[in-house]
Amino acid sequence: MRNYDQNRALVTGGAGFLGSHLCERLLEQGSYVTCLDNLFTGTKRNIDHLLSNPYFDFIQHDVTNPIHIQADEIYNLACPASPVHYQHDPIHTTKTCVLGALNVLGLAKRVNARVLHASTSEVYGDPLVHPQVESYWGHVNPNGTRACYDEGKRCAETFFFDYHRQHNIPIKIPRIFNTYGPRMHPNDGRVVSNFIVQALRDEPITIYGDGSQTRAFCYVDDLIEGFIKLMQTPDSFTGPVNLGNPEEFTIKQLALRILELTGSKSDLVFEPLPADDPRQRRPDITLAQSVLDWHPVVQLDAGLRSTITYFSDLLGLPAACVTPIPDKVAIQPSQAAQGF
Ligand code: NAD
Ligand code: UDP
Ligand code: UDP
Repeated sequence: MRNYDQNRALVTGGAGFLGSHLCERLLEQGSYVTCLDNLFTGTKRNIDHLLSNPYFDFIQHDVTNPIHIQADEIYNLACPASPVHYQHDPIHTTKTCVLGALNVLGLAKRVNARVLHASTSEVYGDPLVHPQVESYWGHVNPNGTRACYDEGKRCAETFFFDYHRQHNIPIKIPRIFNTYGPRMHPNDGRVVSNFIVQALRDEPITIYGDGSQTRAFCYVDDLIEGFIKLMQTPDSFTGPVNLGNPEEFTIKQLALRILELTGSKSDLVFEPLPADDPRQRRPDITLAQSVLDWHPVVQLDAGLRSTITYFSDLLGLPAACVTPIPDKVAIQPSQAAQGF
């Protein structure tokens, strides 16, 4: 049951990592939330605590098929996000990106909804411009193993902007940079989840390449705050707008940090770099700061600690293995450039 004046939010991919946090946040702000997910990488465990909420619904559905429900605002997050998962069935990944966008936009057109689409820093590919600004068109291999995701997400942006221009649909396009936190999938192969699970199990930490490639890591709460602020902007603001943490670290630096925070005995092992793996990535968030008055506030150590606690609970390990580190020895992001 919902109140007649209650905002109705549809979250596709709502049982996934980001989606489940978004559903939670939308319920907190008083929306009626429908979570739609095919449970490919998401799980009901992520939304278990929401299922008894009278303002929350779950629908198991694939976004490549038409969607017929009511909504005032739509958050289109449905898509596997980690290379291991999106390369598992690359044809379905492209269909999810492209047909999913088409169906969500057709729905938005029919029910007059505003629609936010989770785009990605992958649209910049292996970038030749650093840090990445929204005006950069990217450097993407159109037929490599990452293309199902990168080109799928680029085509989805095309659909969103054409529906906006042709049908006046209010659209919001965040380009999300690497985000981490509780409820990441433990086997999704992403660097933060891999390293934490390996460290907690005292298994070797797998660094691909020499670990000098860089990424900038945003804590999930910061990102969700950015989504909420973006959805509240006037219809004239569409993005694309980068959302991410501009503090850049090398992958080796991240591994050492996680070893220290977990007190792990794991060794570092070096494995081949996957094809088309971007060398460096860091968002320029000037636009988000000026239009949304948004910037991330959670430091890497604090975000890693809460993520480590989540994974140690999930793996049934004692939470005590999260080692408190005095701030004075915390690694500063500026050291990343020195290849730490
Ligand atoms: P996730 O894999 O945890 O969540 C994706 C959700 O979408 C899962 O619940 C999955 O079951 C669902 N899904 C996948 N294909 C579907 C389909 N065809 N129909 C319906 N549901 C489907 O990943 P996440 O990290 O939460 O990512 C959410 C969104 O954010 C994705 O669109 C991703 O591309 C984007 N994104 C995430 C990051 C990040 O660092 N986490 C970075 C850039 C972009
Ligand atoms: N669509 C949907 N739900 C709706 C309305 C449309 O899933 O409530 C799908 C529809 O099946 C179509 C797509 O969205 O494949 C695009 O719809 P649109 O009306 O823009 O295009 P058309 O149907 O005219 O090709
Ligand atoms: N990576 C790594 N070891 C792992 C998993 C990933 O060294 O066990 C590297 C990966 O090659 C990439 C970076 O960490 O350079 C980030 O990988 P992730 O899959 O998390 O995100 P993306 O490449 O999509 O940014």
